[in-house]
Amino acid sequence: MSADTAIAQVKELFAAQYGADPTGVWAAPGRVNLIGEHVDYAGGVCLPFALNQCTYVAASPREDERIRICSVLPGDSEPVATECAAGSLGPGDIEGWVGYALGPIWALREAGTLPSDPRGYDLAIVSEVPLGSGLSSSAAIECAVGSAVVELELGSESLADPSVRSELIAAAIRAENDVVGASTGGLDQSIAMSGQSGHALKIDFLHGETMQVPFDLDGHGLAILIIDSKAPHSLADGQYASRRGVIDAVAASAEAPTLRAIGDADAIEAAARAWAEKEGYDLDVALRRVRHVSSEIDRTLHAIELLRNDDFEGFGADMYASHASLRDDYEVTVPQLDLIVDTAREFGAIGARMTGGGFGGSAIALVRREDVEPLSQRIAQAFEDAHFDPPAFLAATPSEGARRVA
Ligand code: ADP
Ligand code: MG
Repeated sequence: MSADTAIAQVKELFAAQYGADPTGVWAAPGRVNLIGEHVDYAGGVCLPFALNQCTYVAASPREDERIRICSVLPGDSEPVATECAAGSLGPGDIEGWVGYALGPIWALREAGTLPSDPRGYDLAIVSEVPLGSGLSSSAAIECAVGSAVVELELGSESLADPSVRSELIAAAIRAENDVVGASTGGLDQSIAMSGQSGHALKIDFLHGETMQVPFDLDGHGLAILIIDSKAPHSLADGQYASRRGVIDAVAASAEAPTLRAIGDADAIEAAARAWAEKEGYDLDVALRRVRHVSSEIDRTLHAIELLRNDDFEGFGADMYASHASLRDDYEVTVPQLDLIVDTAREFGAIGARMTGGGFGGSAIALVRREDVEPLSQRIAQAFEDAHFDPPAFLAATPSEGARRVA
């Protein structure tokens, strides 16, 4: 689906549901993370880029204090639709997908970015980002709705203000953590707001710094292929929280705000050892968990330096090493993701790894442009041979963050 098609579709949906044209349409992208996985909540470093696949929100303000919202999910023809009181959008008030969509409005009011009195909106949503595929449809819907409401309330130039963008990132994170109850770190929301075309974004969560890193795939004859494993994926289940729980607990026991703030790899290991002994937690598991995080942070810093020197081969080797760490030390991969990466390596891809939270979701492969088709075929064949459901393939183009599109 092209952006123009999606924009036309979301306007039509709005008109069909509410019998009027929307005031405007806003978009926020999905993302892939090139490297630096499961380190955002540990004060680490990651390197995502925004996809050109977006979630689109057509929106208008209402005179009363109701919110009407509908969404056509990818692959569905009929929208899901619901209605709620504009004043009841906080934790416990709304559930399920509506929490992702409307939680940011609550968080923006709590933060004082938006007026605290309840205001009503009509909202219609169409997404090109597949849901639950590890490409962050969640941050896309949070940031698209948040952007729409901010510009409806604060004026059409407000997204140009970097401080408003920062407040939107914080509100989207708070919505996902507090309204939905998913303890995600902040990578997804940061890139959904801050993506720039032709660039990946280095995010350093310890120092609160971001830096655009040129990522000119075309110019080097390269491509990133996204492979959606189609293995079931849910971050809201206990697995993600249990990994994060260990990392947060080790940091807290060392009286540090995040794991990385404890110090170097040896200091982190010592803290994990002390924590596991005190808590009676499996020592081997605790050490492997923190080893993933500290090695992944070092690897990501290393990989970013390679990228800045156009060393794509070296960067690809770090991608493979990242996957191995996520598989062996952090144990968040599934057989489908491992099969994709093994097949890519045998094929001769420059690099490949799972991307996103894991437990299903997607992998990425860095390849020469002419290898996209043959590698896709090889992976599809490997899935057939293993009797897995067929994977889906998407092209990844480093693109813009959240914006008004109509
Ligand atoms: P991911 O972010 O990797 O796609 P998550 O499990 O974090 O996976 O978020 C997926 C959930 O977000 C969906 O199950 C749904 O509740 C919500 N969601 C995302 N996009 C939409 C959308 N366009 N319409 C309705 N709900 C959505
Ligand atoms: Mg998500």
